[in-house]
Amino acid sequence: MMDTKWTAQMRGQIRTLAQLEAHIDLTTDERQALEVLASRFRLGISPYYLGLIDPKDPDCPIRRQAIPRMAEGELAVGEMEDPLAEDRDMPSPALTRRYPNRALFYVTHTCAVYCRHCTRRRKVSDPGSAVRKSQWQAAADWLKEHPEVDDLVISGGDPLTLSDKKIEELLVTVRPHVSIIRIGTRQPTTLPQRITPELCELLARFQPIYIMTHFNHPKECTPEAAQALESLANAGCVLSNQAVLMRGINDNAEVLSQLHKWLLAHRCRPYRLYHCDYTEGTQQFRTPFSKGLEIMRSLRGPSSGLGMPEYMVDLPHGWGKVLVSEGVRIDEDWKFTNWEGHEMLLEQDGLGAVRKL
Ligand SMILES: *Cc1c(COP(=O)(O)O)cnc(C)c1O
Ligand code: SF4
Repeated sequence: MMDTKWTAQMRGQIRTLAQLEAHIDLTTDERQALEVLASRFRLGISPYYLGLIDPKDPDCPIRRQAIPRMAEGELAVGEMEDPLAEDRDMPSPALTRRYPNRALFYVTHTCAVYCRHCTRRRKVSDPGSAVRKSQWQAAADWLKEHPEVDDLVISGGDPLTLSDKKIEELLVTVRPHVSIIRIGTRQPTTLPQRITPELCELLARFQPIYIMTHFNHPKECTPEAAQALESLANAGCVLSNQAVLMRGINDNAEVLSQLHKWLLAHRCRPYRLYHCDYTEGTQQFRTPFSKGLEIMRSLRGPSSGLGMPEYMVDLPHGWGKVLVSEGVRIDEDWKFTNWEGHEMLLEQDGLGAVRKL
């Protein structure tokens, strides 16, 4: 394949401690984490995203998302390998169905940057679990037999790490069977060069396509990212952002307000703000529900209603997503009732154990 700006970025991904040290003043904790935890969840940072990191500030919000700390090796109460039980609810290989009308389809396990808060770390970056293209047809056949599923979330990994040719084959395969296609991608944030005119022409042929982006902080809101969103919107895509609320990164009304304003100015609606999933090693990022609700409350007045995401928690064990504001506080714990009426207790303001009721 001819090398383009984005494929060169993928090949130039920073993958080792030595490569990283050439650019960043690592702390002792980061260096140790890179040595000890490398086998658990690999390092991968596109040169573009690396360029957004403050090499001197250990608390840089971009750095926290991309460079591991020792806390990633800790298993906190309530944490699980597959917190959303995605591997359990699989009617076809690479397809998770949790709701009556929609399904989630994994097409790759590659990303431009491996986020330290990733929910799917058990699969992502593990070459042994890569999705085979032969599974695409199986998924399409399943969709054909289940017309009640009309909303397909294409995810991964990052689907936009695939070549244009593969993406075209994928869309040709699934498009006839669903009315809504969503593509979950972090490329506008981590590798905006991927949003080429050729890709946009391709996407324009398969509308309606909803693009679900993943911006978490105003430092990610660069001119390159703005251009990527503009190109996708001009191709007819509907853009929505799904952010993760993370302690020390964006658990701050001012930061989120800036992020939301920028997204709206670039035709991308803030859709969700998620409580960090109960994935192993992510306790360092989880934010108390009371804090998240306080932030949402203070955003309400000053923000355009268009810029208000839904603050949600994806309940462990695959019980689905619920609004945090619909939870009932019982002392330090929160009781949530999912769409099927099942009740679950998330203890210690969202930082503790998980109990089915
Ligand atoms: C989040 C999710 C969806 C989509 O949910 P919406 O609330 O419609 O955005 C679909 N399937 C699975 C398995 C999910 O986790
Ligand atoms: S881009 Fe998405 S799938 Fe990839 S590491 Fe980040 S959160 Fe996980």
